[in-house]
Amino acid sequence: MSTMNLILMGLPGAGKGTQAQKILEDFDIPHISTGDIFRAAIKNETKMGLEAKKYIDAGNLVPDEVTNGIVSDRLAEADTKNGFLLDGYPRNIDQAHALKEIGEKLNKPLDGVINIHVEPDVLVERLSGRFICRTCGATYHKLYNKPKVEGTCDVCGGHDFYQRDDDKPATVKNRLDVNVKLNTPLIDYYGQEKLLYNVDGDRDIDDVYKDIKHILDNL
Ligand code: ADP
Ligand code: AMP
Repeated sequence: MSTMNLILMGLPGAGKGTQAQKILEDFDIPHISTGDIFRAAIKNETKMGLEAKKYIDAGNLVPDEVTNGIVSDRLAEADTKNGFLLDGYPRNIDQAHALKEIGEKLNKPLDGVINIHVEPDVLVERLSGRFICRTCGATYHKLYNKPKVEGTCDVCGGHDFYQRDDDKPATVKNRLDVNVKLNTPLIDYYGQEKLLYNVDGDRDIDDVYKDIKHILDNL
């Protein structure tokens, strides 16, 4: 396979960010998370960030025009020459159609869609225990994925961690409801496009990654 134009799909908390960190150790492609792009824009208080914040804080999706524009610009950048790993996009069918058009315009067709499947009831606990390194963005869990040395980030050695506002209980339920509803049609769509690879995400992080690595090695 000459390019690796990939989507990492899965409900909030399924393990996309966690698996993306591992994929990047083995494959030299940029990790493009629309959620990360929005959080960076919020932190920098850009106009787009302030607009997106209203939706994110409520657990709703940011409007498609905004999100599609961001992805279209990002995929036009030079570092996507050999591929990309989209995480958290597309989130609905209209975004999937927009991505197809972007791919045609940039001559970057998709090579595969990896769907990390986890039942929604497991995800509430995953999201409420998630914490993140403020310095490098690495993701941990208070029970399932602790840093090797307590209080110190494995990746960058940082000591400052935070919980995402939208991982607090008031938002988690609506986020899951919104995404569960949109997820099934997307899975069907990529199944019909013959791009879909399903992975059981309700196992140890390393076991999940073994499956993903096998899929990517054989694409
Ligand atoms: P996503 O990017 O899909 O929203 P994350 O990768 O941030 O999900 O994972 C959500 C939370 O669940 C994090 O706290 C992470 O450490 C934890 N987690 C990820 N994968 C697993 C797994 N296979 N088993 C248990 N916990 C996991
Ligand atoms: P995530 O980091 O993927 O969990 O995304 C956090 C939040 O950012 C989501 O709950 C949405 O409000 C917003 N967001 C991220 N990706 C998208 C997308 N593709 N479309 C619309 N909103 C998004």
